[in-house]
Amino acid sequence: MGIDAEVKIFTKNKLTPDEIREKSFRLGAVLGAENFFSHSNSFFITQEKDNLYNIVVSTRYYGPDYERGNWIFLRTLFEFLPRLFPGCTILYGGDHEDALEKVDQNFIREMDNHFFRVGHEPYRAYGKPNKVICPLCKHPANEFGWAGMTSTISRCSGCGTMFHETQGKVWKLSYVEQRTKFEIPNRPYDFTLEPSP
Ligand SMILES: [Zn+2]
Repeated sequence: MGIDAEVKIFTKNKLTPDEIREKSFRLGAVLGAENFFSHSNSFFITQEKDNLYNIVVSTRYYGPDYERGNWIFLRTLFEFLPRLFPGCTILYGGDHEDALEKVDQNFIREMDNHFFRVGHEPYRAYGKPNKVICPLCKHPANEFGWAGMTSTISRCSGCGTMFHETQGKVWKLSYVEQRTKFEIPNRPYDFTLEPSP
């Protein structure tokens, strides 16, 4: 179970159907429609009540102790929303909590400070420490998957290289192999592995 991000806005006035349609289009067109969640052709702005609206983002929450979601997108959205809805109030939080926090420049700056210091590493480094050290970056790779009882898959956050550790040996997965493995999930491990240096 993951924690999804929730974003709501209080607008100065109730939005007309035309405004909802146009501003929803702008959100997708400017920030990328893939960053928003849509129930079969619905708009990215949904009315909760009166002048309170949901912005249906499609990312996990990002914050201290849960450095998972797409903060770069969220902070850009938080800069965009006041331009799209002048005078609006922005609320942000995770769907695990009832209370959302008010987003202002101070909030964005403080979260930026956290993000630029640790990025996603506290979240990615959960689980047992992985003993695979990336030969390029000299940092431990983060384990994120298992390929059988005695085999793990890990990934270096710095360069993106993935490693397959099995029977005491570490293999570096090439880009093509990563694509093969993750685009065809049920494919057996029949690709050629290249030993890491
Ligand atoms: Zn690396």
